[in-house]
Amino acid sequence: MNNDDTPKASRRSILRAGAAIVAAGAVVKHAAAEETQKIEKSLVGYVDKSTNPDGQHCSICANFQPPAACAIVAGSINPNGWCGAFAPKT
Ligand code: SF4
Repeated sequence: MNNDDTPKASRRSILRAGAAIVAAGAVVKHAAAEETQKIEKSLVGYVDKSTNPDGQHCSICANFQPPAACAIVAGSINPNGWCGAFAPKT
C-alpha cells in the first residue's frame, strides 16, 4: 500500500486539534463539576408534576433554568415539577 496519497497532518494542525480536545475536555469537566455540586432530587422532595396547593411549580421558581434545569437541584427538571426548595421569582 502506498501512503503517498494520504494527506499528512502538519505538526501545527495536530497541535491545534490537541488544544481543541483539551479545551473541550475542560468544558465538560467544568459542567460535570457544577452538576455534582447540586442537591439530589430526593433530598428536596422533587416531583415531576407539582401537586402543590399554592400552584408552585418549577417554571415560576427563581432557581429554574429553562428549558429543563435548576440552579440548585441536579438532573433534568420538568417545568411543571416542584421541590421543597421552591423560591418564588421576585
Ligand atoms: S422548585 Fe425550584 S428549586 Fe425546586 S427543582 Fe424546581 S426550579 Fe429547582
